[in-house]
Amino acid sequence: MPKSPAPSTCPCGSGEPYAACCGPLHRGRVTGLVTAPTAERLMRSRYSAFALGERDYLLQTWHPSTRPASLELDDDLEWRRLEILGTTAGGERDLAGTVAFAAHFWDASSRRAGRQPENSAFVREAGQWFYVGPTPGTPS
Ligand SMILES: [Zn+2]
Repeated sequence: MPKSPAPSTCPCGSGEPYAACCGPLHRGRVTGLVTAPTAERLMRSRYSAFALGERDYLLQTWHPSTRPASLELDDDLEWRRLEILGTTAGGERDLAGTVAFAAHFWDASSRRAGRQPENSAFVREAGQWFYVGPTPGTPS
């Protein structure tokens, strides 16, 4: 028997099926009906979007003040695991918050595993969380 994770499991590591986890958020950019309630939830859904190549979702959840004009995803990077290291604020009643995380990846071009840590800032406007960018101070 081949041993591999169920393909329907969400890349964000929740253990939930994609269709019941980040899938509705990614699809919600079309309907506008489903948005992440917390900064951490948005962070997780953005990680899943990186893993699945959901470029439009990444751009749409990027704050307009820091959003790049376009986004090139590196096809050589395979996102393996998301590690949430800590959060500040970012709750359902907050207007700002930070999420410290490390994203684990496999780089197919160099055939090496890597770990990308970042402390990210998020803001909530009109009920929707946006990624602003990295804050000073990289988590370890
Ligand atoms: Zn998920």
